[in-house]
Amino acid sequence: MVKKNAWEQYDEQEMRKAEAFAAAYRAFLDGGKTERECVAEGVEEAKAKGFISLWDALKEGRRLQPGDRVYADWMGKSLMAFIVGTHPVSEGMNILGAHIDSPRVDVKQNPLYEDEGIAYLDTHYYGGIKKYQWVAQPLALHGVIVRRDGTKVTLALGEKDDDPVFCFSDLLIHLAQDQMSKKASEVVEGETLNLIVGGLPLKGEEKDSVKQGVLKLLKDQYDIEEEDFLSAELEIVPAGKCRDLGFDRSMLLGYGHDDRVCAYPSLRAVTDFEGTPDYTLCAILTDKEEIGSVGATGMNSNFFENTVAELCTLAQEGCADLNLRRALRNSRMLSSDVSAGFDPNFASVFEKKNAAILSRGVCFNKFTGRGGKGGSNDANAEYIAEIRRIMDGANVDFQTAELGRVDVGGGGTIAYMCAKYGMNVIDAGIAVLSMHAPYEIIAKCDLWEAYKGYCAFLKEAKPF
Ligand code: MN
Ligand code: MN
Repeated sequence: MVKKNAWEQYDEQEMRKAEAFAAAYRAFLDGGKTERECVAEGVEEAKAKGFISLWDALKEGRRLQPGDRVYADWMGKSLMAFIVGTHPVSEGMNILGAHIDSPRVDVKQNPLYEDEGIAYLDTHYYGGIKKYQWVAQPLALHGVIVRRDGTKVTLALGEKDDDPVFCFSDLLIHLAQDQMSKKASEVVEGETLNLIVGGLPLKGEEKDSVKQGVLKLLKDQYDIEEEDFLSAELEIVPAGKCRDLGFDRSMLLGYGHDDRVCAYPSLRAVTDFEGTPDYTLCAILTDKEEIGSVGATGMNSNFFENTVAELCTLAQEGCADLNLRRALRNSRMLSSDVSAGFDPNFASVFEKKNAAILSRGVCFNKFTGRGGKGGSNDANAEYIAEIRRIMDGANVDFQTAELGRVDVGGGGTIAYMCAKYGMNVIDAGIAVLSMHAPYEIIAKCDLWEAYKGYCAFLKEAKPF
């Protein structure tokens, strides 16, 4: 079974549609370099399409009718969007779930110091990164600083043409004899990732005058003190925009495709849905997947089922615990997360027949995990048959894949956490090259096929 290249089936009109969707995604990615920014963009998208806040609906004691559209953000870091279906919520939902956090480098709580005329921010990386990939390139600083009184400064510095950028230095090649013989995991160590943020001494200061200069700037421009770093979340990400890749512009090179390239079409598939669905639709964009889906905004938290409980209450006869259990148990889900794209330059870690190939459409992973499928959700054959029916019916190009050759590594997604409710879940996403690198690669046609596939799933999936 060899799947065809999706581009080959496109006529001009389809090419234009794929390109237009890629352009919209690029704008989303440029505006969403952190989970908070993605939620803010998602809320704007939902509101623009007539979704109202679930929390507002609750306050007003509003009852939801079939066709009603609501969104619910959680702590500004996770987002859910629902369209109430004709059938009761307890008969199950069609759910698309993705994550909006990406690997990056975070600023420590007590970060600012000076060494030999250079001011630095000390950092602690987030998620699985090759640390050596992050040095010697322009970086931007995004996030929030919350003052003791609760007021908040939102930062996104390093993106505009006239913004300053930041950088981790690397050792010059001339003196790198020892470094070059080290293991890749030790070439640049975590504690070496100290971000250069200043070099201008504050006149009249004897001690730490450069650090004092940076603090004065922060005070003048943002009204923040050194202690305010204690209650800040600052994320260091590659500076600059997502770009078309290749002479033919068929691909996108950008930061954070994992997993915003699935999050965006998942959300859009719900917000673009017209009319009233048979079954309630849900898109959930969640945080903290890259560090194990823990924390109050990760998929392991109860915020999702709690929110569905609220939805049940507003949409029907009240929320008996059993109703909620039924709603979750009877649901069908695509866990939309990226797949490891087959890379001809590193072919030995893949088994080609069962690898996600770029430009061959949306990719279904029956299982992930490591060491004999360890820790994975292994989707049911009956469910996969249903998914095949839906994809073929909508003329969506799809492929199936595993993460790599047996026993060469592994990974996971949010699928197994949703599967614990007893619902049918399968991983469905887009092939990525250089996953978790500062710049990742995807094919525009895969994004377009994923969007079409997600739309078909929302419309067609039902109890089987
Ligand atoms: Mn992912
Ligand atoms: Mn990842």
